[in-house]
Amino acid sequence: MSFLRKIFSAGPGTVLAAGLTASAFFLVLIPALISAPSPGQDPESSLSRALFSSLGIRSFSPGSIPAAGEGDYIHWVDFNVPEEALERAFRWDVDTCQSDPHISWVDLLAYLGAKYGGEFSQYRQADMDEAAARLQNGESMEAITENMKYYPYYREAYGAVLDGLLGQYETEIASADAPDFALPTGENGEPDRSAEKVWVTKYGLKAFSPIASGFPYSEYDDFGVSRTYGYRRQHLGHDMMGQVGTPIIAVESGRVEAMGWNQYGGWRLGIRSFDGKRYYYYAHLRQNYPYQSGLEEGSVVQAGDVIGYLGRTGYSTTENTNNIDEPHLHFGLQLIFDESQKEGNNEIWINCYELVKFLALHRSEVHKVEGTKEWKRVYEIRDPAVTEAQAHFSSASISFPAS
Ligand SMILES: [Zn+2]
Repeated sequence: MSFLRKIFSAGPGTVLAAGLTASAFFLVLIPALISAPSPGQDPESSLSRALFSSLGIRSFSPGSIPAAGEGDYIHWVDFNVPEEALERAFRWDVDTCQSDPHISWVDLLAYLGAKYGGEFSQYRQADMDEAAARLQNGESMEAITENMKYYPYYREAYGAVLDGLLGQYETEIASADAPDFALPTGENGEPDRSAEKVWVTKYGLKAFSPIASGFPYSEYDDFGVSRTYGYRRQHLGHDMMGQVGTPIIAVESGRVEAMGWNQYGGWRLGIRSFDGKRYYYYAHLRQNYPYQSGLEEGSVVQAGDVIGYLGRTGYSTTENTNNIDEPHLHFGLQLIFDESQKEGNNEIWINCYELVKFLALHRSEVHKVEGTKEWKRVYEIRDPAVTEAQAHFSSASISFPAS
């Protein structure tokens, strides 16, 4: 099976293979709604309750955000899935999105997490492909994980990291890259490519790299290294070194929960995913002009939006101070299974180095807004997660920018 295959569906039940384009080769374009069943999962089985009890984790309510103090929940996650495993599982998912069974990348990774006890230093691609082949041969996820008592834990833990990153959404693409079926018919009866952009429906990676396309950066795995400003502590995030003013991109759609000055993070943004489980932290933003205009606490952003600008603010109780030597984005990802974990001694920050390397597959293209210090995304998306949140919060005091 070719994992670099690009599939265009020309209509229900019809699939055409087409050539690669750099911007979209990892996505499936879907002109009509598809049903994408994920394999039946019931993580809250008696088995999992027993597991969580034995781990001191106890049980949890899958798919919901428990209020502080309510029920039981996962207390710790080590996320060390390497980029190559993320990408391989992702391609299994995308390549089977119109098949039965549709193989979930999170299921595959949770299976391997259970198999390896979370130690992905043991990762072998053949292990993943073998599990996928068993699913394709008709075995259920329940069957292949029957003797893995830790599987429900890994499914919930990895799901908290990854569940919002992949799915179906609408996006603009360049007409030049669009398949014929996505284009209007011109007067001569041929597909009309005169418009610059065209909307298509895709199934694929909805999440973006935190750094805009075309802007260089460097990075290494610096999670957990020692930091001494303020007090001795561990580095609970990932630094991406780049030039001041580099546009910073919303990795996932969500709601701005924190904005403004923080002694450690300087000008920072905290954005919560709509399912409440992921809190993205973007820090050390640019002096004097840290944020995209119009952004405020409560704003909804879409994956791929420009939200701010790389800088070197922070390490000061005085606002707008440049006390960071090397300009960089500090990117952090916190998991929240229960609101009591949001702040305090129970916070779960994961190592996102490998995840960020994976997200480099999808970088938001931006253009300079002339006469300003801002950049803007070139291709808009419509994320169903935003539509659902809008319906849910329609009466709440949340602002939805026009674009
Ligand atoms: Zn950092």
